[in-house]
Amino acid sequence: MKAAGLKRRVLLQGGSVALLLGVHQIARGASILAVRVWPAADYTRVTIESDARLNSQQLVVGSPPRLAVDIEGIDLNPELRELVGKIKPGDPYINGLRVGQNAPKVVRIVFDLKQAVVPQVFSLAPVAAYKHRLVLDLYPEQAVDPMEALIAERLRDAPKSTGGNGNGTSNGTAVATAPTAPPAPATPPGAAPVRPTTPAGDPLGDLIAQQSTRPGPSTVAPPVVAGNDRPTAPPVLVVPAPTAPPARPVAPPPPPVAVARGGATASRTDRIIIVALDPGHGGEDPGAIGPAGTREKDVVLQVAHRLRERINASNVNGSPMRAFLTRDADFFVPLGVRVQKARRVQADLFVSIHADAFTTPAARGASVFALSQSGASSSAARWLANKENDADKVGGVNVGNHEAQVQRALLDMSTTAQINDSLKLGGAMLGEIKGIGARLHKGQVEQAGFAVLKAPDIPSVLVETAFISNPEEEANLRRVDYQENLADALMRGIQRYFAQNPPLARSRQL
Ligand SMILES: [Zn+2]
Repeated sequence: MKAAGLKRRVLLQGGSVALLLGVHQIARGASILAVRVWPAADYTRVTIESDARLNSQQLVVGSPPRLAVDIEGIDLNPELRELVGKIKPGDPYINGLRVGQNAPKVVRIVFDLKQAVVPQVFSLAPVAAYKHRLVLDLYPEQAVDPMEALIAERLRDAPKSTGGNGNGTSNGTAVATAPTAPPAPATPPGAAPVRPTTPAGDPLGDLIAQQSTRPGPSTVAPPVVAGNDRPTAPPVLVVPAPTAPPARPVAPPPPPVAVARGGATASRTDRIIIVALDPGHGGEDPGAIGPAGTREKDVVLQVAHRLRERINASNVNGSPMRAFLTRDADFFVPLGVRVQKARRVQADLFVSIHADAFTTPAARGASVFALSQSGASSSAARWLANKENDADKVGGVNVGNHEAQVQRALLDMSTTAQINDSLKLGGAMLGEIKGIGARLHKGQVEQAGFAVLKAPDIPSVLVETAFISNPEEEANLRRVDYQENLADALMRGIQRYFAQNPPLARSRQL
């Protein structure tokens, strides 16, 4: 009776959702334990946690864009109803949702979308603190391109970073909208005076110009319709999808952006130096949790923000530096995607930031890790690498995603040169961390098979800033002055590395 009323309401509001086909009821029931929503520019994730595995079917409706998901074997309960209130106004993809008992033991969720999405729906077996999870990832049809995100951020910051010279804003705008950005000024009729689009001193102008002449953006972690042959990935029935392009494969990295201006010498580069900062964990994966409840994913993002400020205000021999964050919000980024994003922006360095727990609260001190091709440098390093590599299980990746598998295979081509450079970078950082009085867990850079350090062409280190499982270090990690000192030390380490290993123009040749 109550259920029937809800059903009618959902069907009325859902319109063509009523076309949903063949829902098979199953006998056993499950209880919903929790629901979580992780909105982010890359994708929005909705997680439904239950005490038994859930089966679902979903339907994408084109206009207006909606996604209907029928979850079988459950009754509508207060936890599930909470989902409605968990959609935030700033969610890039979800406008709102309705939930109702569509049939006995079948709950229907209808998402009203802000834009068309390509959903990935998959199940995760219990792991860590979680029971069974049904995951709905809503990806845009055109994936967010990290390079474009970097450029957009640069343009947003332009008024601040260019100070009082008045060039930044108008120049940035002109560059962003110019289709070809010729080196000579081009004044559109009737437009305000336009400055040269690529003045010396703003190499990002070249970057932007080059970007705007390339064909459309490539995808990172391209959404793959969850219609593969794995039992955990029920089929998506896409009804009217008049313009939906297929998920596109990841494009190779763009051509080098090094800009050799007249008179440039081989000994220095006149281009932007990009440092990829990789705050560990995020979203469903809190990382380690300290005795007072501090979450690793939160403090490492704060440290990354502080380091970003320093990088964006620095240069290497006159070439401006720019930080690129693999995640800039509380959502989960799979390890392979972190590497992929850094490669996409042709990062010169990759710095993964963590604050892990150890088995005993007595463990303390900072440590820095590089990749190893032949086993770990210590059992602790191996233990930590295994723990970090489990992030994908806790955070939740769609292992049936073929693209992800291909990417993982590609990243197994690590090189000795990359590891040698990573050891140098790690050594420079370790020396600076020691300088701020932080204890070191080990006096040298350690090595193990960290998946996130596998960019074959980018010197990559993983910094364990402290052990969050140690009460004193947990308290330090929460302190602003400690985070500032840490960011200062890491920045000095980066500068020391570049002083001894100047970035070459050809280093952008991937
Ligand atoms: Zn970690």
